[in-house]
Amino acid sequence: MDLQLKGRRILITGASSGIGLATATMLANEGARLALCARDEKRLRAATEGLADTTDVVTASCDVTQRASVERFVDDAVAQLGGLDGVVCNAGRSLMSTLDETSDDEIRAEFDLKIFGALNVVRASRKALASSDAGSIVVVNAILSRQPESRLAVTAAARAALLNLTRSIANDLSAEHIRVNSVLLGLIDTGQWQRRHADSDTDRSFPEWSGEIAADRGIGLGRFGTAEELAFPITTLLSPRSSYITGASLDVGGGVHRYV
Ligand code: NDP
Repeated sequence: MDLQLKGRRILITGASSGIGLATATMLANEGARLALCARDEKRLRAATEGLADTTDVVTASCDVTQRASVERFVDDAVAQLGGLDGVVCNAGRSLMSTLDETSDDEIRAEFDLKIFGALNVVRASRKALASSDAGSIVVVNAILSRQPESRLAVTAAARAALLNLTRSIANDLSAEHIRVNSVLLGLIDTGQWQRRHADSDTDRSFPEWSGEIAADRGIGLGRFGTAEELAFPITTLLSPRSSYITGASLDVGGGVHRYV
């Protein structure tokens, strides 16, 4: 099936590894033209240089928590690509910490990253998306937003706020025919988890170590997801073929969620 993404201009934050990079690769294979950012531009360029053989790629160093930095990146992307049809708010990380272990500054920083990391990008790209005939925003969030865990207490609260805010943004932007949806992740094998494995003092391989975590968390399919398994639903939601889906959230967690 043709997802009608050929030539579409898509901006992705946090594209130097994991889900952002896998989504950029899938979109490039669909013929989309891309604007990609991360804070470490050298790493971003190294990770995405192969994509430039397939399509137009704009890369920039940008910290999504910094409004001026985001505005520069988006303005440059719009100028170089001639507009925008889609945005993926993906940049971020999780804070593995219980409430008692987390300082007030860390709590503020976590809410800053989750809320402004998406809001800055939405605000800066809104005008360009409204000029598209298929404007679409996908916010990468987590099942944690509906199912908190004590060891990720502050991240869970910030994600719940982001999920709620994303629904309000969907309401506000539907008058401009911009669709806005959330993808809620479970546990996905990316840089975040590879770093945790490297930092742990385990002598078990990553598959053994992550398999135990999958069992402990009760993931129905018994394993972590892959970045490519996230790239597909994100790409599908960006597709003009998803033209009647807005204000929705999609769980992609291999059955880890406990709610109906
Ligand atoms: P990775 O660590 O593999 O990738 C994170 C990307 O975001 C990198 O490109 C990183 O580059 C970039 N980034 C981080 N902070 C910022 C920032 N302030 N401004 C701009 N770019 C930033 O992680 P994942 O692919 O796993 O994560 C993607 C998203 O999914 C994140 O928001 C994460 O929290 C979320 N998520 C992931 C889960 C998982 O199990 N993997 C579970 C639930 C949610 P750089 O460091 O150079 O900026």
